[in-house]
Amino acid sequence: MKAIGVDIGGTKIAVAAVDGAGRVHARTATPTEPGRGFAAGVERVGDLIAATLARAGWAAGDLRGVGVGCTGPVDPRRGTVHNPFTLPTWDGGDLVTPLRDRFGVPVRLENDADAAALGEATFGAGRGADPVVMLTFGTGVGFAAVVGGRVYRGAGGGHPEFGHVVIDPGGPPCYCGASGCLESLASGTAVGAAGRAAGFADARAVFRAAAAGDAAAAAVVFRATTAAAAGAWAAAHAFLPERLVLGGGVMDDHFDLFAAAIRGRLAAATAVPGGRVVVCAAALGADAGTVGAARLALGEAG
Ligand SMILES: [Zn+2]
Repeated sequence: MKAIGVDIGGTKIAVAAVDGAGRVHARTATPTEPGRGFAAGVERVGDLIAATLARAGWAAGDLRGVGVGCTGPVDPRRGTVHNPFTLPTWDGGDLVTPLRDRFGVPVRLENDADAAALGEATFGAGRGADPVVMLTFGTGVGFAAVVGGRVYRGAGGGHPEFGHVVIDPGGPPCYCGASGCLESLASGTAVGAAGRAAGFADARAVFRAAAAGDAAAAAVVFRATTAAAAGAWAAAHAFLPERLVLGGGVMDDHFDLFAAAIRGRLAAATAVPGGRVVVCAAALGADAGTVGAARLALGEAG
């Protein structure tokens, strides 16, 4: 089985040729450049798919399909993009129909967080476990749950946003409408903002100073790890996942720090067997989005 996985972010489009075992046979990437408009964007995605097929030595006719993970919100049922923040000129655009017409194969669209979690759950850190919950800590805090090999969906096929569960009602206000949500306390952006208020240049400087013993920096980091642990506590009690996969830029550098706080918190759970929730680092790296998108095309739980 062969499929193409596409991962569309606000800054980069990545495409991979992926087989049924999750192996990547070819990769390509290009800047997203949303300012050039939706039609140009779709054409570049198509050109990148064609280039990836050529690099892998595959023909479009070999494909089971094309899966696209796109920075959300997206409407997986209608195949449309609804992200006025990072893809303003793409808002309402139909990604599925033009790609289906060009390559003559089924095309599936999914939220990028869901695609990455599906990749990790199927071929990465969550392989063999069920259910799998993934939290990504980067610019924001992303969430996805894979239950029975399928992405968990909310009402109308919508994508739940566990990153905005309220951890501290007295915390900083967030664009989501709440104050003190997980994202507002534990994202890289949140660490950077709290760090700047304490005189540090950015999140990276805060983590570095905390590791060197600076008390103010340590307090900022402690607030983030404590909030992450509270978020993991909420996820454990809501989903009781067999594995909790942590990904994103913050975890690339500081997984051990956050995992220790989360494991310590979960070990104290009495209402659910928190010790059964295995906390692990994302394993697919930058391939998670494309591999997970390809998995969509190959068939969830197939
Ligand atoms: Zn929020």
